[in-house]
Amino acid sequence: MPLILKINDIECSYGAIKVLNGLSFSVGSGNFTGIIGPNGSGKSTLLKSLSRVLKPIKGTVLLEKKDLYKMDTQEVAKKMAVVPQETAINFPFTVKDIVIMGRSPHLGRFQNEREKDYAVARQAMTLTGTLHLADRAITAISGGERQRVIIAKALTQEPEIILLDEPTSHLDINHQIEILSLLQQLNKEKGLTIISVFHDLNLAAQYCDSLILMKKGAIFSVGKPSETLTVESIKEVYGANVLIRKHPISGRPSIVLLTRKTQTGPRNGRIHVVCGGGAGAPLLGLLAGEGYEVSTGVLNAGDIDWETAKVLNIVVIDETPFLPISEQRHMDNIKLLADIDVCILANIPFGWGNLKNLEAVSIAQSSSKPVMIIEKQDIRERDFTDGKAGLLYNNLKVKGAFVVRDEAAALNQLQNLL
Ligand code: ADP
Ligand code: MG
Repeated sequence: MPLILKINDIECSYGAIKVLNGLSFSVGSGNFTGIIGPNGSGKSTLLKSLSRVLKPIKGTVLLEKKDLYKMDTQEVAKKMAVVPQETAINFPFTVKDIVIMGRSPHLGRFQNEREKDYAVARQAMTLTGTLHLADRAITAISGGERQRVIIAKALTQEPEIILLDEPTSHLDINHQIEILSLLQQLNKEKGLTIISVFHDLNLAAQYCDSLILMKKGAIFSVGKPSETLTVESIKEVYGANVLIRKHPISGRPSIVLLTRKTQTGPRNGRIHVVCGGGAGAPLLGLLAGEGYEVSTGVLNAGDIDWETAKVLNIVVIDETPFLPISEQRHMDNIKLLADIDVCILANIPFGWGNLKNLEAVSIAQSSSKPVMIIEKQDIRERDFTDGKAGLLYNNLKVKGAFVVRDEAAALNQLQNLL
């Protein structure tokens, strides 16, 4: 893939304040590139430097091997279109007036639009679904419609590369997908190179071939979404705890936000959670957030609760995926349970594969460990062991297990058991 843009060690500043510090990267022709990073990390500034709005104080921007800042304005406009973050148009131009303005780089001086220019404008309006708005005033349409009109104008330029700054941030989810799918279609079918700033990491991951992750005016990493969006990089750059899953259809990374730890000083107490299949994740998050020393198990590696535990740095006893709990891991679990203060049983189904966890809880209870049960559903509806689990479960209750109906109640009552 030939390069269309090459950025070499650029620095940008506003007056005396330096904002971008030694950035280098290149973009292949036909690539869909996303620029991501926290607020103030320099995404918009970078886009401005690529679109000739803000000349770098150092370094070069090459557009097809030519210095962008030495090229003729019209020549640049034929190759590159820009969709800025905010488009303030206060004069009530009609939508079709705005869109046809995109043709100006293709017109000679004093030359009027010809049939071809109108045809290009019409096609851009059809693609963006704005043709029916043609005679409306730009000041009298919705934000989402205006954004589509600005994109239609950009397409009317017939550029090879289009730069966008958070093009969908003010749109609802349906219009976000509509615009991004349109860009994707232009990228795939017409080979249009796209560079866009994204606020939403999940949208960036879904649509981009490569991502530039910015941190404090510098590039933190560049690569495919699966390379740039990791638990570690998001923690490092955004300071946020997340889980990364595979999108069930696209296979791209999908980011799940975890609530922030509201550390109120460490609490004394070791809590073991018996869970699985995601039933324990909310509780694990709450307990870790409260500063308890948390453990869980036995869980199959790869289970949602297992993943959550890993991200939260919780001790987890794990078993090979899909295998029933082995005697070895069962013993490890019993040993761990001898050392905890409270055991909490999440509202999970029991089958032959995880019945041992219930046995381990019973053993802990008989050596006087307090047991708390989160019960959202009758055990009979989630016992797949011919009643064996039900027996053990009801026995826990008879012997004084503390029953609560949800995670919040569990957290509230926990202090009473410690
Ligand atoms: P982002 O788009 O990632 O939120 P920006 O590129 O807008 O970040 O801003 C990067 C830094 O530059 C911020 O610290 C911001 O305050 C500063 N900045 C942005 N625009 C200007 C400006 N016009 N004048 C002075 N500083 C600016
Ligand atoms: Mg910005």
